[in-house]
Amino acid sequence: MTASGTRDNPVTTTPDSVPSGCFWFVDPDGTLCLAPGCMARIQDPDAECLCDSLTTRYGRLAQKLRDLQERQQYADTWWHALRAAVEAHPAGRAILADTQRRTGR
Ligand SMILES: [Zn+2]
Repeated sequence: MTASGTRDNPVTTTPDSVPSGCFWFVDPDGTLCLAPGCMARIQDPDAECLCDSLTTRYGRLAQKLRDLQERQQYADTWWHALRAAVEAHPAGRAILADTQRRTGR
């Protein structure tokens, strides 16, 4: 499903295509219904919808991806430095063998 229904243009839904925010639909009896997805419309169906737009959700997910990439880059830097320090250590082989035993790989 790519669009949420409006009061003037309700969507047809199936159990597999229910949108995550407010949407209007027509029930089998032909009655126009609102499935509220935000507190504003639970209280008043004519209130302005406060559900996240796809653009807002995309922006939040894109930021989360950037944060995770930054954390991964930091972890990679640490991993390479730690690995080099262990390999340079006199007991490096034993430490690596112990680490492999602990992680199972
Ligand atoms: Zn809403």
